[in-house]
Amino acid sequence: MASVGPSSPAAAAGLAELGALATDARALVAAARLDRSGWDPAGTPLALVRARGVDDVVRTLEVAHRHRLPVVTRGAGSGLAGAAAAGPGSIVLDLSGMDRILSVDPVDQVARVEPGVITADLDRAAAAHGLFYPPDPGSVAISTIGGNIATNAGGLRGARYGVTRDYVLALDVVLADGTGLHLGHDTVKGVVGLDLVGLVVGSEGTLAVVVGATLRLLPRPVRVATAAAFFASVAEGAAAAVELARAGLRPAVVELVDRPTLEAVDEFRGTRLAARGGAFLLVQCDGFGAEEEITLVEKVLARSATSVRTTLDPDEAQELSAARRDALPAIEARGRVLIEDIAVPRSRLGEAVVAVHAVAARTGAQIYVFAHAGDGNLHPIIVVDPARPAAAEEAADGIFAAALALGGTISAEHGVGRLKRDWAAQELGPASLAVQRGIKDLLDPLGILNPGKVL
Ligand SMILES: Cc1cc2nc3c(=O)[nH]c(=O)nc-3n(C[C@H](O)[C@H](O)[C@H](O)COP(=O)(O)OP(=O)(O)OC[C@H]3O[C@@H](n4cnc5c(N)ncnc54)[C@H](O)[C@@H]3O)c2cc1C
Repeated sequence: MASVGPSSPAAAAGLAELGALATDARALVAAARLDRSGWDPAGTPLALVRARGVDDVVRTLEVAHRHRLPVVTRGAGSGLAGAAAAGPGSIVLDLSGMDRILSVDPVDQVARVEPGVITADLDRAAAAHGLFYPPDPGSVAISTIGGNIATNAGGLRGARYGVTRDYVLALDVVLADGTGLHLGHDTVKGVVGLDLVGLVVGSEGTLAVVVGATLRLLPRPVRVATAAAFFASVAEGAAAAVELARAGLRPAVVELVDRPTLEAVDEFRGTRLAARGGAFLLVQCDGFGAEEEITLVEKVLARSATSVRTTLDPDEAQELSAARRDALPAIEARGRVLIEDIAVPRSRLGEAVVAVHAVAARTGAQIYVFAHAGDGNLHPIIVVDPARPAAAEEAADGIFAAALALGGTISAEHGVGRLKRDWAAQELGPASLAVQRGIKDLLDPLGILNPGKVL
């Protein structure tokens, strides 16, 4: 672990060597020290480097390594686990300015990008060639590809298309001491060497800094078909999502919304969705067989739903999706939120929602649940009661315990960062943790990359 005080000789020497590359202007540095989790490391970082190219990254890391200064790499700061929050004495390495899409190849169906490219911009560039970039986190309009890679971000289309890891073929990275490496293969297939790309994906800035990526793209789906269903209870909605899998269907989107969330959306938008049922399920199929598949989806849902509507019309699909699309803003309108992110085996989704509701009843915390039901990923959202903040923490602990008890994980896609470090240690167990710390020590022997996070 790097240990250096903000006013130490090492910090002063490091700043002097970085020269004009870094700024220590308080306002600029302070603006880049938090992420969207709200976790505050208390104190202001030493300096901010806004990298314009790989050379800036190499130079920053060489200097930081020489003087043992902690470095917190930053994309858009949209993370929800405190991973990009930078404490006193650290250098914030902001890569959002390295935002060029270097190439999109319609035959190889790969893109070469810099890490600061906004996720939605890559998808737009791919669309110009009839392609798409499948990972679509809810933050797609603001998050960067580098941040998506470092957190292994997922999204709504994960049910069919998987997560960021499934689209990363090769990475250019800079190690803690400034050494540059090309990892992986620029080809769609390639098995030479250990899978170091897989190691860096999801490592939350603790193993290396990603300065370039070769990403897989897919042909853009020709059409999208949508089904929207209401159920009497969330248990029935969850069971219907499981039945879709049992029927051999593989929609791109399967999103479940519980009653408290429907009530929040009603208050936010002036609708009466909660009067229609205790849960809402949004299903989307895409590609050439979308129309046929949605007919089968409708049949499965109709067995237990109180109502089902399907459409091929994009405007109507927008309208039907509103209960899911507005879920987070509607809950956020009720107070400060903790956005949790657990996953359980898909077959245990219903049990997980019931367990989260039991935690709400036990702790008295307000908890809302929406879920990427197709891959067993729940987002329980806790609204923090300012008069009883401890209830929110107790509720979060109850949610993590329930996830592990159901054979699941404490983070499906948002990462561990600072906030879930203790629970990650519990999930991993001492033997796995020791191996992972050994890998970290090998790549970053001085512990300067995002210290105090993840492991
Ligand atoms: C409204 C909202 C909705 C969201 N929805 C989703 C969702 O559906 N799915 C999902 O997975 N996440 C979601 N998120 C969380 C967040 O957007 C993702 O974690 C995203 O991948 C973070 O990208 P970023 O560029 O903001 O990274 P940051 O927050 O800046 O950084 C996140 C981590 O990545 C590291 N990092 C960043 N860039 C690099 C790099 N180039 N090299 C090495 N390390 C790097 C940082 O050090 C940090 O550890 C959501 C967030 C918000 C606010």
